[in-house]
Amino acid sequence: MVGGPISSEKIDLVIYGPLRPIIENGFTDHYVLHKSETRADLERLPPSVFEKVRGMAVTYHTVPADKESLARFPRLEIIASFGVGYDHVDSAYAREHNIVVTNTPDVLTEEVADVAMGLLIATLREFVKADRYLRSGLWLTQNYPLSVGSLRDRKVGIVGMGRIGQAVARRLDASRVPVVYHSRNPASGVAYKHYPDLIEMAKAVDTLIVIVPGGAATTKMINAEVLKALGPRGVLINVARGSVVDEPALVQALKSGTILAAGLDVFANEPNVPDELKTMQNVVLLPHIGSASVVTRNAMDQLVVDNLKTWFAGKPPLTPVPETPVKDRG
Ligand code: NDP
Repeated sequence: MVGGPISSEKIDLVIYGPLRPIIENGFTDHYVLHKSETRADLERLPPSVFEKVRGMAVTYHTVPADKESLARFPRLEIIASFGVGYDHVDSAYAREHNIVVTNTPDVLTEEVADVAMGLLIATLREFVKADRYLRSGLWLTQNYPLSVGSLRDRKVGIVGMGRIGQAVARRLDASRVPVVYHSRNPASGVAYKHYPDLIEMAKAVDTLIVIVPGGAATTKMINAEVLKALGPRGVLINVARGSVVDEPALVQALKSGTILAAGLDVFANEPNVPDELKTMQNVVLLPHIGSASVVTRNAMDQLVVDNLKTWFAGKPPLTPVPETPVKDRG
């Protein structure tokens, strides 16, 4: 349970992004909520509101909580961001201005790992294409052709061995598929082989599952060179961020047979997806649904509310991001 505010002064919060019932209804009347679904809404808030706001809930990655937006709120203490990825929140600005940023890790880990595993199998065994085949009546004339891809005899390189990467690796263990990984540092308590060099790993495997954070450090890290190293049996699964993959290079690699297939949950310019990808038969495309089940989204919403309430009860936030650690509170 999370306690109430420690003073009788009302606490002004801004909800920035799509409205979510659990967040909207999660606060007592000690709080005053200001709603701005878009950046334009945020800019239209009256100056008196900018002066008062002490907490912000950023409810989706499509609204940029950048320096320009955040600088409008001189009393801001906490930004509670929905989702585990927070590349749309300027955490460097927050750190400089003594603002804590929280995200919603752990509560979505298994859900996203399920999607990664499902997307991998759907891509290899052509579930979507086979479904279309059945619906079109073609099964009545002949059996569906054998899939070229299979999870058997594959070796998977996981790009990012954090919470979700490790949950994907557990699923691959259960399927008896060998796993190695790439990240900047070896993950503690993880026995899989670590490759400090992504190209070296891509050469050693035939499948990449990408689950690193977005942001400058990972932009286009899956490029033409990596795809070439992966090779003609290669399958790319991206459940991280669209920015992590050089999308034109991927389209080219799929068209030319440089790799075999791809399963993508995320895209560079969502919700816009390149037409060329939509016409290809060797890709499975999902509309960014990694964590998008009712049960998991509810848990994420609740963690946004609990981070804000915990903070305004004078306690440390539940899940601060590493860039804005909190000391000496509560
Ligand atoms: P973690 O922070 O637990 O793990 C991140 C991993 O990525 C670590 O192993 C880290 O290791 C590695 N990493 C970070 N930066 C780099 C880099 N520059 N180069 C190589 N490896 C890097 O995060 P989670 O597992 O909880 O989540 C990962 C990401 O998944 C999120 O940030 C989010 O963007 C995405 N996601 C997508 C969802 C969807 O709907 N499709 C849903 C949920 C999350 P090291 O620091 O040693 O490099």
